[in-house]
Amino acid sequence: MMNEPDIEAIKVLLASPKKITIIPHRNPDGDAMGSTLALYHFLVQQQHDAVVLSPNEFPDFLAWLPSSDKVVVFEKDIEKGTQRLQESDLIFTLDFNALHRVGDTMEAVLKTLDKTFIMIDHHQFPDGFAKYTFSDTSYGSTCEMVYHFIQQLDLGNLIDKTVATCIYTGIVTDSGSFRFPATTSTTHRVVADLIDRGVENSAIHNQLFDTSSYNRLQLLGRALQNMKLMPEYKTSYITLSQKELDHFNCQKGDTEGIVNYGLTIDGIDLTAIFIENKDEGIVKISFRSQGSFDVNQFSRSYFGGGGHINAAGGKSVKSLPETIAEFERIVKEVKK
Ligand code: 5GP
Ligand code: MN
Repeated sequence: MMNEPDIEAIKVLLASPKKITIIPHRNPDGDAMGSTLALYHFLVQQQHDAVVLSPNEFPDFLAWLPSSDKVVVFEKDIEKGTQRLQESDLIFTLDFNALHRVGDTMEAVLKTLDKTFIMIDHHQFPDGFAKYTFSDTSYGSTCEMVYHFIQQLDLGNLIDKTVATCIYTGIVTDSGSFRFPATTSTTHRVVADLIDRGVENSAIHNQLFDTSSYNRLQLLGRALQNMKLMPEYKTSYITLSQKELDHFNCQKGDTEGIVNYGLTIDGIDLTAIFIENKDEGIVKISFRSQGSFDVNQFSRSYFGGGGHINAAGGKSVKSLPETIAEFERIVKEVKK
């Protein structure tokens, strides 16, 4: 729960119509888009002028989310995005806890602003950039936190089907459909309430997980074929080169979730996927673990990233083969 003095202060701030901008992290996932759009619909109901400002484009598999067509993409129109930020009374940052997670361009603008920031997030080691911070790593998703935040404001009656649908989406995606350890009985009670408010849970699952293209399945096949095992280190990893991504006409979001296959092999407690991105000149890395191996720490220490104990991301500016060689070397060192 957010602390009471902050909730009281935010109640006062929201008591009259405000210009509010809501920001997810760069490369937003289901939780980032679900939480920002849930808050957007919640605020609009109260006559606020609210806008979701995403640092870059969101993936197609989330384009069905209500009002996703009203999301403004900062990197597509930097001038417009900057102006919006400068005009805002309040800025919500959701599903990230360090300003660099919005990317260099938007971070530079955010740093020049003298605005009231409100952060809601569940990642480890939050930076103190916000005036009001609701940060708790015990929650499985930012969406679940948004649900509690709205309840704490005594405005639970505004969680209509639309808000509930957005919240449900982030809970499902960040919990791996309710299977990751952060899924609690409270999570299920929240979900039960969301369904009572009209969420079409089965239809959302279909939207999220049963809309693959032929190319996406072929890409998944290639990724699985590419999987390497380091059994003596209980480690597996997958690579996808830019050439392979191009070959299967990979779209944003097509690689989502592939990393998880590496953990389904018996005896593996650490896995990673390395995805070459020639445009950005980086290899984007996702790490997953089960049990006590801390990939947040691992990614922070060696791959300039972070996240949670069992799910984290990072990147490398080296080539794909060099990045993999480095990963193997570090794994042998750290897990010997
Ligand atoms: P994914 O591997 O799905 O991109 O991300 C896993 C988790 O790590 C998510 O909670 C995500 O927000 C976080 N994460 C991903 N990439 C980065 C990164 O580069 N830096 C930090 N600090 N967190 C990341
Ligand atoms: Mn999240």
